[in-house]
Amino acid sequence: MKITFILPAIGKKQGEKYIGTWKMEPLTIAVLKALTPNEFETELYDDRIELINYETDTDLVVITVETYTARRSYLIAEEFKKRGKPVVMGGYHVTLLPDEAAMQADAIIIGNAEKVWGRLLEDFKSGCMKKKYIGEVAYSNVLPDKSIFKGKKYLPVSLVETGRGCCHSCEFCAISGYYNCKYYKRDHSCIISDIEQNAHKYYFFVDDNLVADKNNARELFAKVEPLKIKWAGQGTLSMAKDAELLKGMKRSGCELILIGFESLEEESLRQMNKSWNIVLKERDELVKRIHDAGIGIYATFVFGYDGDTARTFHDTVEFAKKHKFYTAAFNHLLPFPGTALYERLKAEDRLLYDKWWLDGNYKYGELAFKPKNMPHEELSRLCRLSRKEFSSLPTVLSRGLSSMKRSSPLMWSLFWAMNLRLGEEIDEKMNVPIGRNLDELPK
Ligand code: SF4
Repeated sequence: MKITFILPAIGKKQGEKYIGTWKMEPLTIAVLKALTPNEFETELYDDRIELINYETDTDLVVITVETYTARRSYLIAEEFKKRGKPVVMGGYHVTLLPDEAAMQADAIIIGNAEKVWGRLLEDFKSGCMKKKYIGEVAYSNVLPDKSIFKGKKYLPVSLVETGRGCCHSCEFCAISGYYNCKYYKRDHSCIISDIEQNAHKYYFFVDDNLVADKNNARELFAKVEPLKIKWAGQGTLSMAKDAELLKGMKRSGCELILIGFESLEEESLRQMNKSWNIVLKERDELVKRIHDAGIGIYATFVFGYDGDTARTFHDTVEFAKKHKFYTAAFNHLLPFPGTALYERLKAEDRLLYDKWWLDGNYKYGELAFKPKNMPHEELSRLCRLSRKEFSSLPTVLSRGLSSMKRSSPLMWSLFWAMNLRLGEEIDEKMNVPIGRNLDELPK
């Protein structure tokens, strides 16, 4: 029997194959591969980097669905179902909106799949696959089987999961709802074995908030240190309050940390339920401490809260330029289903699309709600201008020189590749209709 895993893209422009490059390995699929008994043959189509063979001789199609890829996932499922292939769906979006996904699939997995995957395959073999499998937040002890990525061109960075969930509850974030505002740490011996089984020297630690449990993080860093690797991950500004944590982090090989600053406006931070970022105060000092520890910052900002004006964009870009961040993202708010933000905007009658993720008129980069202080097109334009300004040549050059002082040679070379491509990448992605097109299908 054969299982075909599919990782859908967001969408594709008419006549063009892909919407981006620089893709990371889809880790979840390697975990499912490891949990799949040998009697099943497996294959993967990563829609982001290759064409799907809809005529593949398979017995079961398994699609990982995120909100951005939901429409395309459903279209892909339809094509396989037309060919008589049963389809299973899982992933964040399925967990957030199980009833919607259940209408598109023969079976769905709600929550983390590890504990129910074996049972689903057994049921499938015996011809009695159920409509719904409810997973739990639990790690399996198996190591991801990355042989399923053989022959595919991914970034030469190994993904290793270190934790799931987050103790905070930012209004726009789907993570907090999914994990009920809890952080689940992964067993350290599994993390170390996982690191050791990878071929690359550079790692990305997959974790919604690596420093959510500071004692756990400190212990983990001490265990990673002897492995002499280089890694990047995701944390919060609060980690800069702990000098020992920062030192341990650097000693363990941390080169770059993604931090969600989100906003410099106190009112916006309060509205998004991230006032713990205000309490920290000394934002400039905390950034300096992280840089002084030799760790680069990937800063993310979000626009569209009720206090945001054109001035907010200007001040934010100046802040990012002043600190010479390794890189930064300037995003607009997007109401994801299952978030408090979605419910609030719906109650205030400010949604431009009831379900933007299913709407064929919605395009990547577009706003899906009415901002308070400006037309939605203007907010979208200002986001784009901020990205362009931050990725302009003089800014990239000045940030690159600072980055040289705090990064390893590899991270420094990666800096140029990443930042000089940033503007181009933005243009490629903008206005891609979500879902379509499936013109790669055989006629
Ligand atoms: S800190 Fe980050 S992961 Fe945690 S709830 Fe806020 S946005 Fe989500």
